[in-house]
Amino acid sequence: MKYVIEHMEQGFSEWVILEYSQIIREIGKENLFLTSLPEGTTEKDIPQALKDLGLQWTTKGVNEIGTAETPLNSNRVCILDPKAETDLIPEDANGYDWLVFGGILGSHPPRDLTQELIRKYGYTGKRLGDKQMTTDTAVRTTNLILEKQTKFEDIKFIDYPEFRFNKSEAVEMPFRYILNEQGRPILPEGMFALIKKDSEQSLDDLLA
Ligand code: SAM
Repeated sequence: MKYVIEHMEQGFSEWVILEYSQIIREIGKENLFLTSLPEGTTEKDIPQALKDLGLQWTTKGVNEIGTAETPLNSNRVCILDPKAETDLIPEDANGYDWLVFGGILGSHPPRDLTQELIRKYGYTGKRLGDKQMTTDTAVRTTNLILEKQTKFEDIKFIDYPEFRFNKSEAVEMPFRYILNEQGRPILPEGMFALIKKDSEQSLDDLLA
């Protein structure tokens, strides 16, 4: 199966770089395509960390990509959309080859931007439960459901976990995450440090 992230943010934030890097490490560089980068984007605009991992990217939209071994047939494309009416199930593995995600940073409350992709391309939308996930969590969940044939209700999630940095500092993330075997939310490599840095920054801004 091929995974597509339609990049919908301006540029590449540190957060997005960590998420995309983790997705490549988990599903393999040959299975991920980053689409809809701004016209005129060149290799020098792509962050080194993503180039080093072999990111495949294009300024084309998802409707214009496809590979010789997995052509893009619009009936077999699914957009993962938090506002879709039907949840993704293991049986959907027979129906789709291309899974499309919004390259959108999580926001609270959600901005519902994924629906723009449905309006733009007209592909079928499926939901992964009723809580907003980070993009890497959404890809991980889709992979478990379709490729590992795990039912959504058998995946162990945590909603809005609190990340504690020390006795007095903690931050709650308003997203759903998958738990690892140690019962901790799965985060991209480097994300804990980034969340800590960002929360110190917001505290500094507040006190300035
Ligand atoms: N608030 C966002 C929006 O504007 O739609 C959600 C962005 S979410 C951080 C990034 C991507 O992960 C979404 O575009 C979607 O593809 C996927 N995603 C996250 N939670 C999901 C859910 N519950 N069901 C389906 N897809 C989800």
